[in-house]
Amino acid sequence: MIKAIKGFNDILPEQAAKWLQLEAVLADVLARYGYENIRLPIVEQTDLFARAIGGATDIVEKEMYSFADKSEPPTPLTLRPEGTAGAVRAVLEHNLLRGDTPKLWYIGPMFRYERPQKGRYRQFHQIGVESFGSALPDADAELIAMTHLMWQELGLKDEMRLQLNSLGEIDERRAYRDALVTYLTDKQDQLDEDSKRRLTTNPLRILDSKEPSTQALLTHAPKLADFLGTESKVHFEQVQAYLTMLGIDYEINPHLVRGLDYYNKTVFEWVTDKLGSQATVCAGGRYDGLIGQLKSVGARDDKPVKSEPAVGFAMGLERLLLLIEAVAPMPDMSVCDVFVVAQPEVYGFGINYAQKLRYSRPDLRIKMASATSMKAQMKKADKSGAALTVIIAQQELDDNTISIKDMQTGEQQSVAQDWLASTKNFTRL
Ligand code: ATP
Ligand code: MG
Repeated sequence: MIKAIKGFNDILPEQAAKWLQLEAVLADVLARYGYENIRLPIVEQTDLFARAIGGATDIVEKEMYSFADKSEPPTPLTLRPEGTAGAVRAVLEHNLLRGDTPKLWYIGPMFRYERPQKGRYRQFHQIGVESFGSALPDADAELIAMTHLMWQELGLKDEMRLQLNSLGEIDERRAYRDALVTYLTDKQDQLDEDSKRRLTTNPLRILDSKEPSTQALLTHAPKLADFLGTESKVHFEQVQAYLTMLGIDYEINPHLVRGLDYYNKTVFEWVTDKLGSQATVCAGGRYDGLIGQLKSVGARDDKPVKSEPAVGFAMGLERLLLLIEAVAPMPDMSVCDVFVVAQPEVYGFGINYAQKLRYSRPDLRIKMASATSMKAQMKKADKSGAALTVIIAQQELDDNTISIKDMQTGEQQSVAQDWLASTKNFTRL
């Protein structure tokens, strides 16, 4: 038998029902803030991710699913590992930054070649949000406030901690990187293997090393906060002031650097203590340089390109569902209110009855089995979770009635055929 690929999961019906519920809650909150949905391709040119995410990141170094298609010459393509690059590409391609700058969200699968474990898969799902056009700290705060409301609506408010940091601007970060490298270079024997490698490829990532010995070494290292310019500092203070005003608690985590290169100024993560080492449920930040960076691909060197400010986040839906399962599980929902059972000889009447009922009672979920024996159909009705079963046999047809069975009490009675047409007689639980 052929099985699914490692790290690629089926989401079975019982679980999928919970996904729909979760997605509905999140989509509702997004709509309440005026965010618009956008649907983006799952495959993009490899170059897009290489340029947007940065060559020295985990994603581009080792996590991308890349392949060549059958065109001549073959085009290097990649299954999207994240959504921001594609969203920015689409916004530029369709000129969406003209006029009223958009606030967008999207949902869908992302692909990363990682070691599968609880909360970490090779195909996983994100809701991503991108807010374009504002360089001001209120845009950062709005996104955080929106996620805060999402936790409230999902019953997760007490499970989430907000961590904040500021990465400053590119030149500030560069100066800091040099200072950090200088500090760590003569101590590199004491670094873990990954950090040693990062010292030349992506030194800032050393800050979020999980190795205690590396962390110990960092206590006396130069601090990124000391390298921020006035503008970056003021921006960060204003984000914090807005959050305080909104009653949203936060912790400053000076070692929060994020895995992607495109961030500047504010970065944030919502973390939980309930998911082991896969603790980050939602992560994001500002990326004022990315639009300029992607615009300049293929542009003439002598023409300066203007960037546009933007801020966004991505939420891992599997982790969110694991957390919901752990702290506030969603009830299993029945998929059916009324089950219609009909004798095979009068099955056409049964189908017609159910069909008419679906027109007149769009609030009800009405299920049928198939024209097998009454006994087999009743068995399916028992399993369906329906509150009520309608039974139609020759006798009912002759009397112009239907039989209804209350599935809770087992009580059965005969009623008029239009009994269910009225909401007074039966409402969905
Ligand atoms: P991590 O440090 O856990 O690898 P990341 O920094 O790579 O996370 P992001 O690129 O910021 O993650 O993605 C945003 C969110 O998407 C994460 O906070 C997480 O909830 C989710 N996510 C990322 N990678 C995976 C994965 N392989 N499986 C499931 N969820 C994931
Ligand atoms: Mg990762």
